[in-house]
Amino acid sequence: MKEIPLQKMPVLFVGHGSPMNAIEHNAFTEALSGLGARLPKPKAVCVISAHWVTPGSRVLASDHPRTIHDFYGFPQPLYEVQYPAPGAAAEAHKLAGNPEISPALTEDNQWGLDHGAWSVLRHLYPKADVPAFQLSLDERRSFQQHLELGREIHSLRERGVLILGSGNIVHNLRRIDWNHPHGAYDWAVEFDAKVKSAVEAHDASALTQPQKWGDALLATAHPTVEHYLPLLYCMGSTDEKDAVSYPYEGFDFGSISMRAILFAPQLND
Ligand code: ZN
Repeated sequence: MKEIPLQKMPVLFVGHGSPMNAIEHNAFTEALSGLGARLPKPKAVCVISAHWVTPGSRVLASDHPRTIHDFYGFPQPLYEVQYPAPGAAAEAHKLAGNPEISPALTEDNQWGLDHGAWSVLRHLYPKADVPAFQLSLDERRSFQQHLELGREIHSLRERGVLILGSGNIVHNLRRIDWNHPHGAYDWAVEFDAKVKSAVEAHDASALTQPQKWGDALLATAHPTVEHYLPLLYCMGSTDEKDAVSYPYEGFDFGSISMRAILFAPQLND
């Protein structure tokens, strides 16, 4: 009997912003809850989080990933949050053994789910009933090489795995403006708009050369690039046949873009 093919999964990029979003209820978290209910339920979620940066690419192969509270100086209730989703060790083994991925990924049992993952997953899948694992950001890769690894993991989608990039399109904590909770600096609006145009045109080449938009603009939008990189995995694992939409748009504190991007396969794709 022929197996019914799994529905090809969308790919999602989420700007996670402050860890407090994990326990707050606001327009952003409501958008995530709505999205979780609306999207086809994945077999597992593969999270590429800004908060797991390693030498070499690692894939989390734990059966029961721990909840990592990787932030400082926040209210106690945030440290008490647990997100007990099961791991997806079988998917991690498959990725680590995939000959198309070169150099091969290293399996990891030390990491868990960091707040880039669980602060988002908690709203998408509040019951913690979708197995979750993470793919790290290799600090030695160039923008182009991050994009290529995104291409190499694209088959996860056909296996019913949701690829979730969690970072921020603009992220400069040094320029946080507490007086304008939803305001934005001109340079933040400019960088966010350039990314949006490139994503809509599926111009991966522009996204792997953000310095071409101006070194100063890039350095201001991303003093360090780890929050930008997850987007390259989303771009790599999608193509122009995926329809782009924005489940959430806006800025927090002047210097953080909260834009979320959904890449969804079109009907009859
Ligand atoms: Zn972050």
